[in-house]
Formats: sequence, structure tokens, C-alpha cells
Amino acid sequence: MQGTVHVTCPACAGVNRVLADRLGKAPLCGRCQAPLLPGQPRDLDGPGLERLVARNDLPVVVDFWSPSCGPCRMMAPQFEQAARALAPGVLLARCDVSAAQDAAMRHGIRSVPTLVLFRQGREAGRISGALPAGDIAAWVRGAL
Ligand code: ZN
Repeated sequence: MQGTVHVTCPACAGVNRVLADRLGKAPLCGRCQAPLLPGQPRDLDGPGLERLVARNDLPVVVDFWSPSCGPCRMMAPQFEQAARALAPGVLLARCDVSAAQDAAMRHGIRSVPTLVLFRQGREAGRISGALPAGDIAAWVRGAL
């Protein structure tokens, strides 16, 4: 990667320009000083999801999940582990479809958990069902 990449702050949603070679050095948000790439999934509502996907140069993996879904809850620590494994080049996020039904409809989510990979605002892949961390990371790397 060369040049600068746009990264949306998980705390204030401000869009930051980050030099590509600074991505691995724990960059902070220029507006609110929060870590831009904390290496853990960010929880998004529907509008937050659209904003993150549309205004980011980094690939984004969204876990569409629901609190009432047992496999979703089982996968949560695996997803967090995958987020650390894929940092800082890939952002992982979670969207609770029971709260963000509009987002689930817009992205055609028929079952949970479903992982959707976005690149440059477009869907680049999806996979359904609970997965261990290693399989999540391997799927993302294979799809990029
Ligand atoms: Zn910020």
C-alpha cells in the first residue's frame, strides 16, 4: 500500500487520512485522539455501517448478528480474535440486525451470523454460519 488511506474513526466517525506506512503504528484520530485501529470489532448501527463502508479505503468485514442467536454469541470471541489477526489492514465491525433491521434488509441478510466483506463501498464476498477465528481470517484473506 502506498500514499494515504481514509480511515473512519470508531469513536467520532471523523474521516482521517493516514499515511499507508503509519497504519501499523497505532494511529490516533486527528479530531478526538481515539485509536483509529484498535484491533477490535466496532459495534455499528445502520447509519454507522453505511458511513463506515462508504468512507473507508480499508476493507471492512461486518458480522451481521443478533443477541438472540446462540451461534452468533459463540462466534463473538472468535470474531474478536480474527480482528486482532487481521489488524491493521482490515476493519472488523458488528451490526446487530435486531436493532438495525433496515441495514439487514438493505444487505439482504437472511440468516445470522452472516459475514459480509466490503471493499471500496461494494460487497466483495459473504459467508454465513459461525466460524472459528482461523477460518474467518483465512476467508477474508482469500477474498481480498
Ligand atoms: Zn475520532
